[in-house]
Amino acid sequence: MNRQWTIGALEQLRRDAQRSADTHLLWVDLPGLKGVRLYLKDESTHPTGSLKHRLARSLFFYGICNGHIGEGTSIVEASSGSTAVSEAYFARMLGLPFVAVMPRGTSQAKIDQITFYGGRCHFVDDPSTVYHQAETLARELRGHYMDQFTFAERATDWRGNNNIAESIFLQMEGEPWPVPRWIVMSAGTGGTSATIGRYIRYRGLDTQLCVVDPEGSIFADYYRTRDKTLTSPSGSRIEGIGRPRVEPSFLPDVIDRLETVSTAASLAAMRQLERVLGRRYGGSTGTNFHGALKLGCEMVERGESGAIVTLACDAGDRYLDTYYNDDWLRQQGISIAAHQELLATACKEGRWSEPPPA
Ligand SMILES: *Cc1c(COP(=O)(O)O)cnc(C)c1O
Repeated sequence: MNRQWTIGALEQLRRDAQRSADTHLLWVDLPGLKGVRLYLKDESTHPTGSLKHRLARSLFFYGICNGHIGEGTSIVEASSGSTAVSEAYFARMLGLPFVAVMPRGTSQAKIDQITFYGGRCHFVDDPSTVYHQAETLARELRGHYMDQFTFAERATDWRGNNNIAESIFLQMEGEPWPVPRWIVMSAGTGGTSATIGRYIRYRGLDTQLCVVDPEGSIFADYYRTRDKTLTSPSGSRIEGIGRPRVEPSFLPDVIDRLETVSTAASLAAMRQLERVLGRRYGGSTGTNFHGALKLGCEMVERGESGAIVTLACDAGDRYLDTYYNDDWLRQQGISIAAHQELLATACKEGRWSEPPPA
């Protein structure tokens, strides 16, 4: 392995981080939540548009420092989403070929984003085989399979090093309640919730971690049963979160509470957030906001005060033809009206009521 290349590559990654600013922690002012302050860590402002920018950077550091990535190593990933986009960005920066293994039928918009950063897309017919195919392809190319679902939890330094948890707690320092009562996050790889949960323990903080899991995901059942062999054939309809299989990076023991959120509720919350904040985010941000709002109303009901922090994972412009399109919702049979009413009440009066059964 060419040591000079390694040193140069790590230097490139550090310089890219140095040029980047930290992401905003926005205060979502909700007068109905008396005594409760809700904050949104806005991860949509990274150069590649999502929180996967952090993960991709960490995976490259990890791969290079473990000697798996060197000069000319082909990088292979099983992803059709944000991770492939962010990894393609860093691969190009380091002059490495990048291949995303994805199901045939992945939307053209995503393919375009990956190819924009010089990545190549390799299509497979059976979506459940993407992991195996990525591994095989990496072996054939004598390249490196990044394997985000395995390595997300260990590639990030959970003790600090400007990880997302440390950044949140630093930005909270001047607030009325600097140590939030809750942090609310959904799980795709589970890497972000793992980092937050570990950091809370490591620093001895009085914060609880609530993971919100979308309808169709297996994480909720796994959290209850701890049966790693469970699968959910339907899968989640919220892009980026919820998985059909138990991913190795999802760590249930650092999670204090797990809430399931329906597809309709997530998308209603995504739109409600636009009403109160004037910004459009993606579906997983809706899932997060839904969970945060529910916990906020519980605090109001119990007469507690304090802060709740959740994450905006990516921006809404990726979803204008789908989640933000009423015709699309109708075609998909997703009805958000009842949830919208409930969420408007929650924001205005701090009162939570359960929706009628769908
Ligand atoms: C990956 C992703 C998440 C979840 O983050 P993990 O750290 O992988 O659990 C949430 N929202 C979006 C849009 C994502 O791409």
